[in-house]
Amino acid sequence: MSLAFDEFGRPFIILREQEGKTRVTGTEAVKGSIHAAKSVARILKSSMGPKGMDKMLQSPDGDVTITNDGATILEMMEVENQIGKLMVELSKSQDHEIGDGTTGVVVTAGALLEHAEALIDMGLHPLRIAEGYEWACKVATQNLDNIKSTFSFSPSDIEPLVKTCTTTLSSKVVGRLKEQMAQICVKAVLSVAELARRDVNLDLIKVEGKVGGTMEDTRLVQGIVIDKEFSHPQMPKELKNVKIAILTCPFEPPKPKTKHKVSFGTTKDKMLVIEGCPNTNAVTIFVRGGNKMVLDEIKRSLHDALCVTRNLVRDNAIVYGGGASEISCALAVEEAANKVVDVEQYAMRAFADALESIPIALAENSGLPPIESVTAVKKRQLEEKNPHLGIDCNETGTNDMREQNIFEAVASKKSQLFLATQVCKMILKIDDIIKPSEVQ
Ligand code: ADP
Repeated sequence: MSLAFDEFGRPFIILREQEGKTRVTGTEAVKGSIHAAKSVARILKSSMGPKGMDKMLQSPDGDVTITNDGATILEMMEVENQIGKLMVELSKSQDHEIGDGTTGVVVTAGALLEHAEALIDMGLHPLRIAEGYEWACKVATQNLDNIKSTFSFSPSDIEPLVKTCTTTLSSKVVGRLKEQMAQICVKAVLSVAELARRDVNLDLIKVEGKVGGTMEDTRLVQGIVIDKEFSHPQMPKELKNVKIAILTCPFEPPKPKTKHKVSFGTTKDKMLVIEGCPNTNAVTIFVRGGNKMVLDEIKRSLHDALCVTRNLVRDNAIVYGGGASEISCALAVEEAANKVVDVEQYAMRAFADALESIPIALAENSGLPPIESVTAVKKRQLEEKNPHLGIDCNETGTNDMREQNIFEAVASKKSQLFLATQVCKMILKIDDIIKPSEVQ
């Protein structure tokens, strides 16, 4: 903005702000945003479920990460587009709130937007779609309450919790040792849980890793592990009932300027373990793995399993997985849409169709014919009135997810639906995008 004067000396203001900006408005703006969000969701789709694929991401300084965790993939992708960034935030919110379902939430949001686009093309106003989605989300959430079951466990019978963690870990890098890892995670959560208050503070569980050894060497330490050698080889190796002084200043002999080390493996490396402290119940899962990449992915997988266990301790309401709850919710929303007389009914049906994108993706990723598999399950759910039927990804011979023990916390499913609907509403309401021009 600058002040100028005309030939008579009268001041006037020149607005320069729009000079360097590009502007997209109306339907074009909404559709542009939808495209950006859809592209992000498409990337995650192939990572969904027990047969989901991994992604390999390389950072500018050459670090390589191999993962199938939705939140991690998006975080490392350096999404430039602002709407794309909203999807990244979406997956982060789910990770923060629940810790699981980070892929599902983004795939659901992508599908909701894809169906919204078709409705916009048909001439429906984005705000009416947003409204219909909100109604449909309420119906779906209500349906989750109607079909939920209770998951029971007790500190003396942790088997059900272990089975759940095993399911979570089966699609992860630790799949080979899923039972062992699941045992470790459940024991870790129960060590820090306050069952009477149904509270778990995951900050008390440290997941520490050290490259070397094999995954089998991973163990639970009822205390903390510090990656420090003993100062002197003749120091006693085990001390009981000790007092610990914590120094907050460096306390090491100066290091030689040049250091030569020959790489003898790390299995003989010594570490400091502090166990059995009376005033705290902090525990450490000490992870071993062949290289840093594997180690990082193991840590991420364990994080998911710890979150799943924590969620069940907090609230033991569950719904069955493999797309079973999504298909059941889709049927409920379709039924509710038929009772709506306004145009929002179209948005509600679109919401129902979008919910089916989860079982479709699960079937597709497992090499099953997607549409046929989902239609068959939908038909059976309707005929048998059984909301536990889902996609048999591992071809076990049964579609009953209760028999397969595949379930998810209701809290996680509700959060996925709620967050995905909110982000769609937000995107549908943007009808003007002003950004700095690319040619400056
Ligand atoms: P997210 O990051 O969203 O948790 P996952 O890749 O872990 O994504 O996939 C979770 C989805 O896979 C859920 O819908 C869950 O019900 C489904 N799932 C997990 N294991 C199986 C299985 N063995 N058979 C069928 N579906 C499964």
